[in-house]
Amino acid sequence: MASEKIAFRTCPLCEAGCGLAITVKDDQVTHIRGDMQDVFSKGFICPKGSTLKQLHYDPDRLLTPMIKRDGVHVQATWHEAWRAIEAGLNRVIENFGRESIGTYLGNPGAHNLSSMTFNRVLLQAIGSRQRFSASTVDQIPKQVSSGLMFGSPSSVPVPDLDRTQYLLILGANPYESNGSLCTAPDFPGRIEAMQARGGKLVVVDPRKSRTAEQADEWLAIRPGTDALLLAAIANTLASDGLQLAKQRLGNHINGLDQLVVALAPFSASAVAASTGIDEQTILRIARELRDASCAAVYGRIGTCTTAFGTTTSWLVDVVNVFSGNLDRVGGAMFPLPVAGSGNTHGEPGKGKGFRIGRGHSRVSKHPEALGEYPAAAMAEEIETPGAGQIRAMVVVGGNPILSTPNSQRLAKSFAELDFMVSVDMYLNETSKFADVILPPPSQLQRSHYDLALLTFAVRNVANYSEPVLPLGTDDLDEWQILAKLSAIVSGLGTETEVSVVDDLAIAGVVQSAVQDSSSNVYGRDVQQLIDELSKSGRRGPDRILDFLLRSGPFGDGFGAVPDGLTLDKLIAAPHGIDFGALEPRLPEVLRTPSGKVELAPPQLIEDLSRLSLLLLAQVDDSQLTLVGRRHLRSNNSWMHNIEVLVKGKDRCTLQIHPDDASRLGVVGESKVRVTSRVGSVDAPLEVTDSVRVGVVSLPHGWGHSMAGTNTRVAASRAGVNSNILTDERELDPLSGNSVLNGIPVSVTRIS
Ligand code: SF4
Repeated sequence: MASEKIAFRTCPLCEAGCGLAITVKDDQVTHIRGDMQDVFSKGFICPKGSTLKQLHYDPDRLLTPMIKRDGVHVQATWHEAWRAIEAGLNRVIENFGRESIGTYLGNPGAHNLSSMTFNRVLLQAIGSRQRFSASTVDQIPKQVSSGLMFGSPSSVPVPDLDRTQYLLILGANPYESNGSLCTAPDFPGRIEAMQARGGKLVVVDPRKSRTAEQADEWLAIRPGTDALLLAAIANTLASDGLQLAKQRLGNHINGLDQLVVALAPFSASAVAASTGIDEQTILRIARELRDASCAAVYGRIGTCTTAFGTTTSWLVDVVNVFSGNLDRVGGAMFPLPVAGSGNTHGEPGKGKGFRIGRGHSRVSKHPEALGEYPAAAMAEEIETPGAGQIRAMVVVGGNPILSTPNSQRLAKSFAELDFMVSVDMYLNETSKFADVILPPPSQLQRSHYDLALLTFAVRNVANYSEPVLPLGTDDLDEWQILAKLSAIVSGLGTETEVSVVDDLAIAGVVQSAVQDSSSNVYGRDVQQLIDELSKSGRRGPDRILDFLLRSGPFGDGFGAVPDGLTLDKLIAAPHGIDFGALEPRLPEVLRTPSGKVELAPPQLIEDLSRLSLLLLAQVDDSQLTLVGRRHLRSNNSWMHNIEVLVKGKDRCTLQIHPDDASRLGVVGESKVRVTSRVGSVDAPLEVTDSVRVGVVSLPHGWGHSMAGTNTRVAASRAGVNSNILTDERELDPLSGNSVLNGIPVSVTRIS
């Protein structure tokens, strides 16, 4: 008799966190659709959601560890893999010290409960400051600006999508991305609901993206100038007296007068030529934000991956403050994450604040931000001799060879490493350099809770997923892989049971909570709490999650709050639990030493001087600048091996405006050569008026033609790697984020 069940789980592929209903027959997944009863997504999924099945059954997915022998990766046992890692890493540590081991943590880790709970353990075990991650090609500027303003990098205000009446989006395309740093399944549906209730959507983007097409107004800004536009909007609102801001937030803000003075050079007329948006439009948008019954400004990847990423991210929230919309229903609000975060721990309303630059990178002296250095500095840290030179890399779920700037230089440097370990499900453009590859189980074989992404959700919700399919006999869960790696690199040896590392991990988490006077387990006995947790038989991430939920803002506090949340209660609610719409959190959310929103952090005020130089720069639209773009059926670099997601028309094209194509004499060319300071690619040409004059666009994450990889579908539609063109020298100096948008390039015929 065939056994059939429907399992419910949250899709871990992107930040939307949609609920899935997965039909499993005889341990085989037959069908995946949206979970109509999911409390947050209510049945919505995008085309990627159902491909968890194809990912699981992908014949190219690695099922056993791989060891490189004579330059070729061959299958190995776990025991052989651990022995090889112990020998390789120990050799490097003995010869060059721990600082010679670098780590790179990829973006999928943010969607993975094992990584969210055990990557930190691994980093501590390695004990090196040479830490890099996908954050510095993505969202870190927003975390830095939030840290400086609100005291915690977790305090990112999100647009209150379901209640706002006016949404100004800069550099984000949620119709393709489904939202980022704003967890909102069916983001498009929520926008359309806003428009249906009379609200207005304005999109600022150099491309007429799908979101811009849906907008009531599209402003085709010149790349890299969002900070100028926002500064001018803030300046305009300041000229009007800031009554709303003072009325609503007067007791909670610091630095208002200083900021108003610093914004003085950025009038609407002053920024018009540089931004490409006329003065009257800027003045009108400022007034509309002020006069809307409620409004929110939301900026994302296009605002973060520029030379002014942090300053732009800060100005987004300055405008939210100046228009009276920060921490207001229908404005930009702070979520209250059910499993807790940096802004639910410690004394409410006050804290130590946030710092950057607690150390500097070895070669170019980039300041540290959130405990890491810029991904763009990885190559020079590997290439440059001297104490602390990186000789070995540990890469977890990342493909920096495709996703970070000047890929060709980075690939050359990876080839020179003495040793490398990769935790990855594919033999891809980065793991091909690894001496040992450790394969995690598929997304369907893991438990799941969006620890990171629910920190940015537009409702306070919780949703736990049990594994849909069991691990194979020889499989290890990802946390077990990370725990074993931690044991080996810290010198405990290959025979150490992962339970030893797991026990240390839970003890660390519990210890810090019982010392927090605001925690519902303050002063409790650590071992007693661990014993209580362990009664369920859970280990690893699930045991840690149970603790975070129980000690979180909705938790049971181990008996202190009898109706409070536990993991058992969450498991009994397979469609999730909705804790309601966001509520105002000022001043409790703050962790600044002053207990106020810091509107004028010194680093950001200082950066306005650098920004003002843009006003003096000659505007030259004949100098093409490159921007990226997102597609609904793509997810950075790692889902191009799924046939159903890549079939059809080539999407990896260079988009160019007809006027530019004509000026450059490339109309009718099937391919063109794109060249930047660091490299050159030949890309299929797409002439379209969906990009503004002076701008060309190429999506990222492609370029699957490297030898030594094994992603056959991806290789058959390889595309070109946009990061051959991006420049590792171009960074946002405050956060270390790479500049991926606004790269000067030339476009020529290939002849
Ligand atoms: S929108 Fe994101 S979370 Fe939802 S189904 Fe698609 S990939 Fe999964």
